[in-house]
Amino acid sequence: MRLLRQLELGFRDTDIPSVVAGAGDPGAAVGPESFRAVFSKHQDVDLEEKARELLRTNGACRIAMEIRVEWNARLKTCAGRADYCGKLISLNPRLCDHGATEVDRTLRHEIAHLLAHFRTGHRRILPHGVEWRQACQDLEIGDEKRCHTLPFPISERVQRYLYKCPNCQRDFPRVRRLRRAVACLTCCRAHNGGEFDARFRLRLVSIR
Ligand SMILES: [Zn+2]
Ligand SMILES: [Zn+2]
Repeated sequence: MRLLRQLELGFRDTDIPSVVAGAGDPGAAVGPESFRAVFSKHQDVDLEEKARELLRTNGACRIAMEIRVEWNARLKTCAGRADYCGKLISLNPRLCDHGATEVDRTLRHEIAHLLAHFRTGHRRILPHGVEWRQACQDLEIGDEKRCHTLPFPISERVQRYLYKCPNCQRDFPRVRRLRRAVACLTCCRAHNGGEFDARFRLRLVSIR
């Protein structure tokens, strides 16, 4: 089974690995916690219908018939996942904190993975290579970044490391020390078109 994670922790093939992280909102953890307690995994027929339609209009009728979309609370840090063999898209319930726009964008990001695979057949492709990029364009998210990171509070584990955005001062609690350059998504979006910007690189302020 091939799993394509939406959250790549940096670029494997560049000198300066970087990730853009979302802004931490401690208050946001309340809703999805209760949501997750009730639904560890559940199908979403509305999103499935949307995925079906998008695949169909892009010529992937065969997978459109089989596609399933589920919310899966077992996804901890990645926003979404696409499994081509199982024709399954899994979404992180914590995405709901970020509104319908982020849910839609993540769904399209994952559909783009399936579409890219469908179009190339058995040929091996890079997860976020040209085929995926083309699929993103066809799905009207042409500006999608391969590193699309959202803030997911991980409440089950102790968040020992507290990082801060030097610009907006938002907190980014993390379970592990960040091994790569990570910047605040909100500020990168506001001032640098969503691209990584070292000016907004998170700074470690305390360790518990
Ligand atoms: Zn991806
Ligand atoms: Zn910021």
